[in-house]
This record gives sequence, C-alpha cells and structure tokens, in this order.
Amino acid sequence: MIIVISGPSGVGKGTVVQKLMEKNSRFVRSISCTTRKPREGEKTGRDYHFINEDKFFELIQNNDLAEFAFVHGYYYGTPLKNLTQEKTDVILQIDVQGAKKIKNRFPEALLIFLLPPNMEILTNRLTGRGTETEEEQERRLKRAKEEIEERTFYDYITVNDDIERVVNEIEKIIEKERKLHR
Ligand code: ADP
Ligand code: 5GP
Repeated sequence: MIIVISGPSGVGKGTVVQKLMEKNSRFVRSISCTTRKPREGEKTGRDYHFINEDKFFELIQNNDLAEFAFVHGYYYGTPLKNLTQEKTDVILQIDVQGAKKIKNRFPEALLIFLLPPNMEILTNRLTGRGTETEEEQERRLKRAKEEIEERTFYDYITVNDDIERVVNEIEKIIEKERKLHR
C-alpha cells in the first residue's frame, strides 16, 4: 500500500512516521531526494538523498521520480523505485503538490493530512524544533495556512494532539483501508 502523510512544517509528520515504523516493521519510509542542505544530524541516504540541482534535473529527465515539487525554495522528489516494493507499506512524507501527483498516478494511494491542534501550537513546535532560521520559520508558517486549506483533498484528516493517540488512529485507518481494498 502507498500511504501519503502531509501537513504543515512542524506539525509532527516525521515524529508520527518514526513511531509508526517503530511499532510495525511493515512500514517503510520513502526516502526522498532534495536540493535542500542537510540539517545538523541529518544523513544522506537515511533522512534524504541530498543532491545538487544538476543531479535532480537528471533524475527528472530520466523519469526516475514518481513526483517532484518545489517546496520552501528547494526541490523535493520521490524516487519511483521506492514505490515498487510489494511486501511493505511505503509511507511518503510529502507536500500537498506531491500528494496530488501521487493520487493521479496511483489512485489507490491512501492520503492522510495531519493538522496541528491550533496555530499557536504549530508555531511552538516549529520554533521549538530549532532547526530553521527565523526567516525560514516565517516562510514555513505562511505556507502552512495555504497547505491547511488544501486538506479537503485528502482521504483522512487527523489532528496531531497526542502522539500516541494519533499514531493509533492512523494505524486503524490503514487497517480499515487494507480490508476494504483486499
Ligand atoms: P514535521 O516533520 O511535520 O516538520 P516534526 O516531526 O519534526 O515535524 O515535529 C516538530 C516538533 O514537534 C518536534 O520537536 C517534535 O518533537 C514535536 N512534536 C511532534 N508531535 C508532537 C505531539 N503530538 N505533541 C508535542 N510535540 C510534538
Ligand atoms: P523539510 O525540509 O522540512 O524536510 O520538508 C519540507 C517539505 O517538503 C515538507 O512539507 C515535506 O513533506 C516535503 N517533502 C519532503 N520530501 C518530499 C518529496 O519527495 N516530494 C514532495 N512533493 N514533497 C516532499
């Protein structure tokens, strides 16, 4: 199954996906390619494949990407080969533009949107993470409002209030969808 998880920057996508993978070895995260520079502690091949623009455009030319988008000033894309594993549930932690492209290409994909409990909490999570400059945080919060407006495109919308609760809810959604599509 292809599972897409989107939501504004800082809502907790990475945290939720990490928990899902810890709980169930069926879940595999799709590692994207990006032209963004690694944050402190991020490793190429584990968090992203960090590549330059020339290499990114080469992947596009060769049809190696299932989708790509320009997000917060950088290119991000999902390698097509990440979606061809059969025995796993592959989780794509991608933006709204990418989610739409995946749904077009793979209509059976399950799209889940994560909302913050409110904007103040989103701001606190993003600033609390402390991985972006103030200018970059502002850019991401501005984009957050536009992204949240697109939530109705998704199959499910859920609030990341309590991490254990939301992870349980997402597991239930996936099980329900799996049964429906068998
Ligand atoms: P994203 O991947 O969506 O940008 P992260 O997973 O990096 O977001 O989470 C942003 C910050 O919010 C992190 O510091 C994380 O620990 C925290 N966080 C995530 N989920 C919750 C939650 N349910 N309650 C409180 N803090 C959370
Ligand atoms: P970050 O820089 O915080 O890791 O990610 C910024 C945004 O890019 C997030 O909304 C994230 O979901 C999105 N993103 C990450 N990888 C991909 C991808 O492969 N494709 C698309 N379309 N968006 C991605």
